[in-house]
Amino acid sequence: MSFENLNLHPLILKAISESGYTSATPIQEKAIPELIEGHDLMASSQTGSGKTAAFMLPALNRLVEPSKAAGKGPRILVLTPTRELAQQVSQAAAKYGKYLKNAKVVTILGGMPYPLQNKLLSQHVDILVATPGRLIDHLERGRINFSRLEMLILDEADRMLDMGFIDDVERIADATPESRQTVLFSATLEGAIGKLGASLMKEPKLIKIASQTAKHENIEQRLHYVDDMSHKNRLLDHMLRDLSVNQAIVFTATKRDADTLADDLLAKGYDAAALHGDMSQRERTRTLTRLRQGGIKVLVATDVAARGIDVAGITHVINFDLPKFAEDYVHRIGRTGRAGATGIAISFASGRDSLHVRKIERFTGQTITPHVIEGLEPKFKPRPASTQKRNYSARGEYRNNGANPRRNGGGDRYARERGNR
Ligand code: AMP
Repeated sequence: MSFENLNLHPLILKAISESGYTSATPIQEKAIPELIEGHDLMASSQTGSGKTAAFMLPALNRLVEPSKAAGKGPRILVLTPTRELAQQVSQAAAKYGKYLKNAKVVTILGGMPYPLQNKLLSQHVDILVATPGRLIDHLERGRINFSRLEMLILDEADRMLDMGFIDDVERIADATPESRQTVLFSATLEGAIGKLGASLMKEPKLIKIASQTAKHENIEQRLHYVDDMSHKNRLLDHMLRDLSVNQAIVFTATKRDADTLADDLLAKGYDAAALHGDMSQRERTRTLTRLRQGGIKVLVATDVAARGIDVAGITHVINFDLPKFAEDYVHRIGRTGRAGATGIAISFASGRDSLHVRKIERFTGQTITPHVIEGLEPKFKPRPASTQKRNYSARGEYRNNGANPRRNGGGDRYARERGNR
């Protein structure tokens, strides 16, 4: 469907057309009319499906009309689980709203200095994009006035829940006017998310485009069995030398592994850098800008830090360590094949990982095809599933049992991320 049929203001249509979008994606086609009509909305849609524009375009459409309330606080509030996602949402808002007079975007993230944020919050704001922890800090200090707030958007609400932000989200929602429009995007709409939606929304419309487990049909998924760390490193080196690699994200289990591997790759002459939650916000932003500008060929990242990265040049995702949760696998591979491009997702797995690989396959409903590179064949031949020792905790969490000597525990990464507000 063309954007012209969606009742958006001509100045927004002009910005969309300059972004090179010729037609609305399915989530945009369904969500935009409901949101323009003012309904609350709960939506699930696949990563990379164009969900940001699906909520941001109707939000901007509201800003065309002046606010009925006095004051200079935000009219639109978007909460995101991670800083990177917040920055991406802010960039999208600025891009689509660039011809509107009153579409000032302010981004409030943990890990950034307070004085600048205090100043930004004391001025006129139309769209506020924030991570919940830092926003609560400002709210408690009385620096935010929500009297003009018309729309509250929770992006990747499932992840905010996973990261323990639920109380913060509810407190923030309580501080906003009852009359607001509430929008929630999440991988799943069941369970705790359904309850959260019910508590925050009035007769929400439901849209399910495709679950997170939907096929990434444009992404080729490959599996390489590995014997040990040295085998992994040789395989990685071989893959990165492949001429078809434009840019790659390599995922490790821990922040320390990300640093070590990025240093190893730099020493080998690759334009490599690490991205993880122990870096300052300034370092993370600088790294992402270099990635976007093509100055980094190999980004070595942890799950939370890499969530939401949207860089068209990423042709390969390599799971140097498998993710702990099958859902993270879907998020990781979704960093390639953005906006219709094709991509390759490669996973390294040891013999002990076979069951975990199968669990990921069950979750995605797709097979990760085993590949072997001549001269780099694994000594190990996978055994049939029935003879393998179970490695899962009761809640389906994978326990590596020390198979990878470089792991230092993985641990509660979300808690650590949160600690760094
Ligand atoms: P998102 O799902 O919001 O992360 O968006 C994924 C990518 O799709 C981003 O790079 C957007 O710029 C791009 N995108 C969003 N809407 C459209 C559209 N209608 N046509 C083409 N690309 C789009």
